[in-house]
Amino acid sequence: MKIAICPGSFDPVTLGHLDIIERAAQLFDKVIVLVMTNSAKQHMFTAQQRTDFLKRCIHLDNIEVDTYGGLLVDYAKEHNAVAIVKGLRAVSDFDYEFQLALINKSLYPKMETLFLPAKGENMFLSSSMVKEVGCLGGDISSFVPGEIKEDIYKRCKGDK
Ligand code: ADP
Repeated sequence: MKIAICPGSFDPVTLGHLDIIERAAQLFDKVIVLVMTNSAKQHMFTAQQRTDFLKRCIHLDNIEVDTYGGLLVDYAKEHNAVAIVKGLRAVSDFDYEFQLALINKSLYPKMETLFLPAKGENMFLSSSMVKEVGCLGGDISSFVPGEIKEDIYKRCKGDK
């Protein structure tokens, strides 16, 4: 069974993330969406909330959601994953993602990183943009799954 991991902070999950995750699920037998904590970012939602949001929005049998606080390659080894699948938006994603792919390759040579190009309409969509628009009262319906829209507005108003 070929297993791939889609890692990210998903703070919160957007339609851009979901597109990449669902496309990965067509290429692999199983996809694990791995919610990680990025120490360089201040997260709006806890890892538990980000995981719950993903679980609510994913309806395919071969996709699982998990949370991990350690090194991605250690998780991949433990779960026999053969690939990491990431979405690439504009050129600005490339430097960072390429660097990560090279580091992961040197830490765990058996694993590959695959990049899927973002769909045109998701090219400029990011979790930070969703938070900014949502907290200013803008319409985020075409950016995030309907299942979590109200949770974002509530959090913007200060609810935990
Ligand atoms: P962000 O960069 O928005 O904080 P994450 O760290 O959660 O997002 O990203 C997880 C993965 O999803 C990364 O590979 C990132 O490039 C990809 N991704 C993020 N937004 C999009 C999008 N709009 N379309 C395609 N892929 C995306």
